[in-house]
Amino acid sequence: MRNQAAVVHYALEPLAVELREVPIPEIGETDVLLSVGAVSVCGSDVHQSRNTHSWQVNVPVVLGHEFGGTVARVGRGVTAFREGDRVVSETAAEICGNCLLCRTGRYNLCPSRKGFGYGVNGAMAQFVRVPARCLHHIPDSLPFELACLSEPHAVAYQNMCVNSHVAPGDFVVVIGPGPIGLLCTRMAALSGANPLITVGLSCDGPRLEAARRLGATHTVDIETQNLEEIVRDLSAIGADLVCDASGASATLSTALRLTRPDGQIAKVGWSPDVIATDVNPLVQRNIHLQGSFSHNYPVWERVIHLLDRGVTMADTIVGLRAPLEGWREAFDSMHDGRVIKSVLVPVG
Ligand SMILES: [Zn+2]
Ligand SMILES: [Zn+2]
Repeated sequence: MRNQAAVVHYALEPLAVELREVPIPEIGETDVLLSVGAVSVCGSDVHQSRNTHSWQVNVPVVLGHEFGGTVARVGRGVTAFREGDRVVSETAAEICGNCLLCRTGRYNLCPSRKGFGYGVNGAMAQFVRVPARCLHHIPDSLPFELACLSEPHAVAYQNMCVNSHVAPGDFVVVIGPGPIGLLCTRMAALSGANPLITVGLSCDGPRLEAARRLGATHTVDIETQNLEEIVRDLSAIGADLVCDASGASATLSTALRLTRPDGQIAKVGWSPDVIATDVNPLVQRNIHLQGSFSHNYPVWERVIHLLDRGVTMADTIVGLRAPLEGWREAFDSMHDGRVIKSVLVPVG
């Protein structure tokens, strides 16, 4: 089998990522070999490359779980896809298929789930092996460079539109203007949230500007402005929904202070920091604390449609496109905050 170049996370230590030659994967009966058209860089890829992630990684592993491409070969048992089909892939590369969650369509929560890019080789390569059950067809009108953003869109949609309920006129606060926070801002705006505040740090200027373009009615720099006062001025009882999309655990206590009685906290950001937080407000104010992890089939179909119609304004968050060889700058520019989201375009 021929070799290919791939971005490999090879050890559990900081900066243990490099472009390596690896074999082009073999496929099984129910798999396809996908020629990667585009793969976007996730904050989680950047965390893995710096060894600041909060999940178990099977090193060495090819990074990349946000991708789409063209089917190059199909296994004998694959009937729904053919060579040449344009597709995107979900991230649950391995699931058990038998547990309660798998049998009720919530396979994203299967205890045996392993995802691309940390559990199973991912798509920062020319080719990736994908089980056909992970695939969705995409319209010809949707370029791979936007289609690969289906995955972060699905994360935001699951958090704001499945695990939360936002109605027109709801007061929503989104903490953390990274790609997921910005897409949560967009999903909230599309759901009619108003007011809609996106919160960041002083170094997040360009991200907060993007939040305003995506529909935030207000943005707050938490280092120079008084967030709590701004929220209370808009509503004395607090926000209906606070989305915590930040990569720091301490923001949970901020969310607890901002949420109105009987309101909701939608927690989608996570971090390895273990913190001591006063959780009594949860009880005293009857707050609903909801975690949100990953996504499933109906969410993917919905976000592919939204992306194709352009209503999520996805190119607002893409700041850099590079070939696979440019992976380091693609990662570093996201880490340093110079771009919100990078997209790698492997070339054959
Ligand atoms: Zn991701
Ligand atoms: Zn299962």
